[in-house]
Amino acid sequence: MSRAGASAALPAFFEFAAPTEWRAIDFISDLHLSAALPRTFAAWAAHLRSTPADAVFILGDLFEVWIGDDSSGQAFEHSCVEALVDAASRRQLAFMAGNRDFLVGSEMLRESGMMGLPDPTLLDAWGHRVLLSHGDALCLDDTDYQAFRREVRGADWQRAFLARPLAERAAMAAEMRRRSRGRQRLDSRVDADIDFAAAVGWLHAMGAAELVHGHTHRPGSDELGPGYERHVLSDWDLDGAHAPRAEVLRLTRDGFERLQPLGLDAAAR
Ligand code: MN
Repeated sequence: MSRAGASAALPAFFEFAAPTEWRAIDFISDLHLSAALPRTFAAWAAHLRSTPADAVFILGDLFEVWIGDDSSGQAFEHSCVEALVDAASRRQLAFMAGNRDFLVGSEMLRESGMMGLPDPTLLDAWGHRVLLSHGDALCLDDTDYQAFRREVRGADWQRAFLARPLAERAAMAAEMRRRSRGRQRLDSRVDADIDFAAAVGWLHAMGAAELVHGHTHRPGSDELGPGYERHVLSDWDLDGAHAPRAEVLRLTRDGFERLQPLGLDAAAR
């Protein structure tokens, strides 16, 4: 999907080294949790509770929408915080923002016990150097979305939005989601993929050979270029009429594997 002339400025370099005693790290993204998806929530909470992994890295779009950390006391948001706090008492949790939940801030991270990860982050684990990103910043073909992204990721827009009352923010977010279904702004286009050349540029600059990202909802692994690979995370939906889907990507010393989450039984109840 590379496009001549496309480029994404090389972002600031953030590196996280996994403790050598860790044995496994789970990656998930694109759960789009909301009160309307109780089975998806149940499977997620059960996996967080019982995974044998030492850490769970959430790479964006955990929430369908996040309108500010002062919403964490609302019923559904509070149940998510409780699940995160419980999991964080057992293992390391890390969170990278996606295009739906980019307003998760330092208060929410502190309250829920998650370590915040900039996008992208370079993970060094047992000699594997893996670049982690939500993925939307690399969907360069979608110039409308990139312009929207620059606006809403800016301090001015965020300050103005967060200054509004919660109910007004909720209404605005619902309106943005409604419009985005027609004009594909809140999300990049449904057929959008990351720009392979830009991704390879990031990997090369950071001395990594593998990229893990979500956002496109098309799980699988591909070669980005000679010597460079990407692993796309699955979205989760155990409540819809379509084929249920949920998947965890696990990294161990031996490499990556894809697994069903441990919470599918909980989701079926
Ligand atoms: Mn996304």
